[in-house]
Amino acid sequence: MTDADTYDCGTCGASVAAADARRSEPFGDLDADTWQTLNCPHCGDRLATVFVGDE
Ligand SMILES: [Zn+2]
Repeated sequence: MTDADTYDCGTCGASVAAADARRSEPFGDLDADTWQTLNCPHCGDRLATVFVGDE
């Protein structure tokens, strides 16, 4: 895990650091304690689903 990770939003084109992304519960059957969905803080679109269970 590194705070330097960034994600490019395919909707608005923003480059969003993982630390700046909104986090929400994942979709489907994924465990919210282990996985989080990162959302663009600008347009709200989903950027990635990340594993957080090893922190
Ligand atoms: Zn966006």
